[in-house]
Amino acid sequence: MKIQNYINGEFENPIEDHWLENYNPAKGKVYGKFPNSTNADVESAVLAAENAFPIWSNTSIDERSKILTNIADLILGNLEFLAKAESKDNGKPISLARQIDIPRAADNFRFFANAITQFSSEAHESVGFNAMNFTLRQPIGVVGCISPWNLPLYLFTWKIAPALAAGNCVVAKPSEITPMTAFILADICSEAGLPNGVLNIVQGLGNTIGQAIVKHPKIKAISFTGGTKTGAHIALTAAPMFKKLSLELGGKNPNIIFADCNYDKMLETTVRSSFANQGQICLCGSRIFVEENIYEKFKQDFIEKVAQLNVGNPEEETTDIGALISKEHLEKVKSYIDIAHTEGGNILFGGERVEVENFEKGYYLQPTIIEVFDNKCRLNQEEIFGPVVTIMSFKTDEEALSLANDAKYGLSATLWTNNLNRTMQFSKQLQTGIVWVNTWMLRDLRTPFGGQKDSGVGREGGFEALRFFTEPKNICIQYD
Ligand code: NAD
Repeated sequence: MKIQNYINGEFENPIEDHWLENYNPAKGKVYGKFPNSTNADVESAVLAAENAFPIWSNTSIDERSKILTNIADLILGNLEFLAKAESKDNGKPISLARQIDIPRAADNFRFFANAITQFSSEAHESVGFNAMNFTLRQPIGVVGCISPWNLPLYLFTWKIAPALAAGNCVVAKPSEITPMTAFILADICSEAGLPNGVLNIVQGLGNTIGQAIVKHPKIKAISFTGGTKTGAHIALTAAPMFKKLSLELGGKNPNIIFADCNYDKMLETTVRSSFANQGQICLCGSRIFVEENIYEKFKQDFIEKVAQLNVGNPEEETTDIGALISKEHLEKVKSYIDIAHTEGGNILFGGERVEVENFEKGYYLQPTIIEVFDNKCRLNQEEIFGPVVTIMSFKTDEEALSLANDAKYGLSATLWTNNLNRTMQFSKQLQTGIVWVNTWMLRDLRTPFGGQKDSGVGREGGFEALRFFTEPKNICIQYD
């Protein structure tokens, strides 16, 4: 299987003819190759985008909206094909790709196809000066979109859809670990009638072409989702060039459980928020804090539920936990489990690799629960990004809040309680971009999405994304 770049509406081999191997994590085997692109490919993508910009930015809102809707329809029309491709490329259970990843990719296009028809800007009358101001919001030009491997098509389209809706042309780079569904999307965009050069997809490594996109003087804005360290590097590169940046980075999210919650719903949701997508979601609640009076009961019930999760071949409908993304990542996650031994953590469940019949070389790991006694431990401070959660008890609201906020990250938090006063106090004081109360990962695409502290800067979602992808200009008209 050979993946190619998509530049100016054409599928192309990389100019220097260098290739990388694409792995199927479920089997630990190479199953294809994709371009190891270089600066020359990025250059050609930028040129195509630049040439397409005058036409696309002047294409009517209705027409842009229609094309994005076509893309959404075609994604749904190819749901099964895309879900299989995503599961194979990433190791995630096919059921998850079918129910979440691919439908959400279609929703991203449909949402922004509609949102752009409702997007408006402000007017300010300067009373007493005979002057009228209005804000003209224009597309930026050529923008860069760089995405990670954990939700490949879901996050790739989350950036591309608003960028295109707002009238920009895009140079996009999916993760080198999951290049497949971006390649399929290119075909869909052509079929949907997206003009040549409006979207260009360059495949390859972050420190070569990712860096080339960030550094390119003609790319005026970068929307990036990925690790905090990479985000810091991107900020360092882009800041002296005064580029607009949206950085969606790592997380170490608290899941705070009070005794007065709806216990059954909490338990079921906590299993999901801990281990969905093998725990490889930036929003997973990886630090679980439980009120002391239900701690022992929760511990027992949680272990019992987690023990029922099915680790195995992602192609099987009954699989709950598929393969981790790569051998290196599996080893990294495993090394954190080993830290538990030295840090005094107590492994309550899991912690071992799983050998799946006929898939012996796949990267499988048991869902793992570790009891910890100090939030300062590395297991509670560093992002593991795998099927590993810690649990710890607390006594008071003040203690829970202080534990939750005691991390350098600030992406999301989940709170389980039926107490309204507590809900409001926590909502106001949690240092995160998102607070879910009595739910997890319920997403309304109109809401601002992003993190505080080391989890990033800027917000995506809804009109926030359309504001990011447009340049506001004040027009001031004085009249006689
Ligand atoms: P990563 O930072 O290694 O890579 C992300 C993307 O950046 C890839 O496409 C990569 O090729 C590219 N890249 C790498 N170096 C680059 C450079 N110097 N310049 C430009 N681009 C570069 O992250 P990952 O391992 O793919 O993803 C996992 C991380 O993403 C986790 O930390 C996770 O929390 C985070 N994440 C955050 C969100 C969010 O919305 N906040 C969502 C999903 C994942």
